[in-house]
Amino acid sequence: MIVTRFAPSPTGYLHVGGLRTALYNYLFARANGGKFVLRIEDTDLKRNSVEAAHAIEEAFKWCKLDYDGEIIYQSSRFDLYKEYVQKLLDEGKAYKCYMSKVELDELRASQEARKERPRYDGRYRDFTGTPPAGIEPVIRIKAPTSGTIEFRDGIKGDVKFNCEDMLDDFIIARSDGTPTYNFTVVIDDALMGITHVIRGDDHLSNTPKQIVLYQALGFAIPEFFHVAMINGSDGKKLSKRHGATDVMEYKELGYLPDALLNFLVRLGWSHGDDEIFSLEVMKKYFSPYYINKSASTYNLSKLDWLNAHYIKTLSFDRLNSEMKQFGLNFKDIQKGELLLESLRSRAKTLIELKNSALSIINRPTSYDEKALNKFINEKSVNLLEKFENILNDNLKTAAEFEEITNEFLKQNNSTLKDLAQPLRIAITGTSVSPSIFEVLEILGSMEAKERIKMLIKFL
Ligand code: GLU
Repeated sequence: MIVTRFAPSPTGYLHVGGLRTALYNYLFARANGGKFVLRIEDTDLKRNSVEAAHAIEEAFKWCKLDYDGEIIYQSSRFDLYKEYVQKLLDEGKAYKCYMSKVELDELRASQEARKERPRYDGRYRDFTGTPPAGIEPVIRIKAPTSGTIEFRDGIKGDVKFNCEDMLDDFIIARSDGTPTYNFTVVIDDALMGITHVIRGDDHLSNTPKQIVLYQALGFAIPEFFHVAMINGSDGKKLSKRHGATDVMEYKELGYLPDALLNFLVRLGWSHGDDEIFSLEVMKKYFSPYYINKSASTYNLSKLDWLNAHYIKTLSFDRLNSEMKQFGLNFKDIQKGELLLESLRSRAKTLIELKNSALSIINRPTSYDEKALNKFINEKSVNLLEKFENILNDNLKTAAEFEEITNEFLKQNNSTLKDLAQPLRIAITGTSVSPSIFEVLEILGSMEAKERIKMLIKFL
């Protein structure tokens, strides 16, 4: 069975790049009847917080990504890690190193002076003497000193590391007893039966170290997929300069999770020329073996385009439930369904949708200067006044409003162009709104009359 995991270090919020990694792992497991585990790597007790872990959970909920079992917190597994450190010590595969900070600094300085890569020199590897007093040792693994570590990466292909260049006897437990990242990740991946590790390629250089540990512990090595990073439009590493990086910020900005996931899945993976992927369709086609080798570029206009697509095509009930989070329940609004239907095709975000709905629901409190200058003059005011007179309570549907308006325009030797913009200004305060007849149906004649009178009074 395929078992994948997402293993974020909680540092405040879930990064969009992290969400993409999570999504890839999720899809691969779900598409194959496998398991997907969420593991919070919070062993750095100084930097990690419960709130940060909750922020990840919240982002998962918003995106409707479910995981199997409970969330696993590494901070609750210290005893387990200790056991395995002890096992390696007992088997002579790891050892205590008593090098002081001063000695370590000296070693580093001398290596740098010789233009060598800073690395531990193995001085306690075979130490059998009396340990120096007053020093709490770190635990180091006995890493191979020659040869190569090779593996086949599902994305990058064959990867080879020269042990002499890449490895030293790295630390698996600090002097305070806490285990290091490379150690905990191997213990957990092995004990949780993770078969495929899909993660950012910033972890590629950790992989040979982890393989050393798998071998020392006698665990089966999972298959690795190292995904190239996401870059901003300037080719530099994605950062806040390129747009929001916190997943939940996208929610606040009025993006749908459907659009964000669709956007992220395509950053690094494709299926023909297809652009639209619901979670179901992603599950059908996604394979980590087809993730691109090269870095992808973050292009927010694509996200806007996708968001507009989902706003246009979601069911009324789903869109309405999303809008409730922005304080608008279209089921409680007069002609709410028609209002939402007539507005949704123009909105790029839920915030835009909300604002355009409010501009119809609420009477204008001001009028757009430019629109007034452009469309309001003696002739248009005259036409509006006459139009206001023919509006009456018998008119109900958009079609009825359209019919009477056409008749009215004919009698007054005018066209819809002469009336529509001034009417829009009267109704919403601006010259943008959807079909004027739908707006008239939504508001009803009495409200429309009132707003026309308001504008005329204002002028
Ligand atoms: N906790 C690591 C991070 O957030 C990821 C570990 C992994 O995927 O192996 O970068």
